[in-house]
Amino acid sequence: MTGRSGGCGGSRNEGGVAIVGGGIGGLTTAIALRRLGLRTTVYERASDLGRIQTGGGLMLWHNAVRALRLLGLQDELAKIGHEIRAQEFHSWRGRRLARWPVSEISERCGVPVYAVSRPELHRMLTGQVGADLRLGSRCAGLATGADGVTVRLARPGGQREEIHRDLLVGADGLRSTVRATLMPYEPPPRYAGYTAWQGVVPDPGVRPGTFVNIWGRGRRFVYYPLADGLVYWDAITSDRIGHGLDALGSTGGQIVTEQFAGWPDPVAALIGATPAEEITPIDIYDRTPVPRWSTGGVTLLGDAAHPMAFNLGQGGCQSIEDALVLSQCVDAAASIGEALELYERRRVDRTATIVRRSRVIGSLSRWEHAALCRFREVFMRLAFRRVVYRKTFDLITGTDF
Ligand SMILES: Cc1cc2nc3c(=O)[nH]c(=O)nc-3n(C[C@H](O)[C@H](O)[C@H](O)COP(=O)(O)OP(=O)(O)OC[C@H]3O[C@@H](n4cnc5c(N)ncnc54)[C@H](O)[C@@H]3O)c2cc1C
Repeated sequence: MTGRSGGCGGSRNEGGVAIVGGGIGGLTTAIALRRLGLRTTVYERASDLGRIQTGGGLMLWHNAVRALRLLGLQDELAKIGHEIRAQEFHSWRGRRLARWPVSEISERCGVPVYAVSRPELHRMLTGQVGADLRLGSRCAGLATGADGVTVRLARPGGQREEIHRDLLVGADGLRSTVRATLMPYEPPPRYAGYTAWQGVVPDPGVRPGTFVNIWGRGRRFVYYPLADGLVYWDAITSDRIGHGLDALGSTGGQIVTEQFAGWPDPVAALIGATPAEEITPIDIYDRTPVPRWSTGGVTLLGDAAHPMAFNLGQGGCQSIEDALVLSQCVDAAASIGEALELYERRRVDRTATIVRRSRVIGSLSRWEHAALCRFREVFMRLAFRRVVYRKTFDLITGTDF
């Protein structure tokens, strides 16, 4: 590939790589490509770092932790992560249905699982990228040609700029502008049928190292500890309950409190400790997987390439995998075209499987009928530990790097 340490290419092309989107995927890609000595710049539309990742927690499973370690971030990650050693599934009536000893897998593959605060993870990644992250730079369009890729950037105040690079990576999330340019006739993302509400609160005394999932009729509640004495919680309701909070005259806190009344401890305590007006709905979307992400010198990565429902906690982890694998492909290939072909070959099927499996789990979680939910509980008691546990972690740890 051209553009290593300064770049070459045609007369207008300055060489190197432009990444659109300064989320987990875009920043990790910059870190990975810079290790190859490539000139890499991240263009992020938000003008202020605090607005890119505004809150919440994130599970980094074995695959993502392994990739971040390979990128040299082992020590930084250990500082911000809280190690998760077990995952539990409970019924909304308080009965434990299954327990997964996650630490067994961690010991077997020599990699822990971390729960992290999103702002801390973002700080860690932006700290590595430094001045190569350009804020207030929105990708407003692009064109590909024989001499690389032209990206049109719009800046606050109406300023415009065009840049020319060998490779453009669209890491601009669910409603990616880069993807819309490559696939103009594609329908919009698909609403998965459920909505998440979340909070981060001081730990009211939850068990350290345990990720708890509570399943009820058309509703779920998950929580896990983060570092620094905090706990992240996520309440999931079916359909768009609570949309138009102003019209309803309620706060998110009131809606979630009502929806999860009577659920086992510490659900009420976690909701109650979160400022009611800060609890806002996040609709969950995905897309049916597609076989190709690349055209000319442009490719997609993370949610821009394969948005998935959050049920396996893999959206961010897969964007980290994409970043490492893309850098390996660029390193191994003789041309950008060859690198992107290799990247798709290694990533499309794996991510499609995870998108589909996340979709199935989401559908099961929406069941409301009492008999179906009882059947689901029996299934979780009998099969979750014996079958689903192994299948889930075979998938998560089944990386090719
Ligand atoms: C409730 C919830 C819980 C989740 N839990 C987990 C979990 O536990 N583990 C996990 O791995 N994943 C989880 N996910 C999924 C994860 O958050 C996403 O998959 C991940 O953030 C995707 O990262 P990304 O970098 O691809 O995209 P994003 O994080 O969406 O980043 C895209 C960036 O691009 C910028 N951008 C957009 N358009 C433009 C433009 N035109 N020009 C310039 N910049 C632009 C945006 O401002 C943004 O900063 C969860 C998701 C939700 C909703």
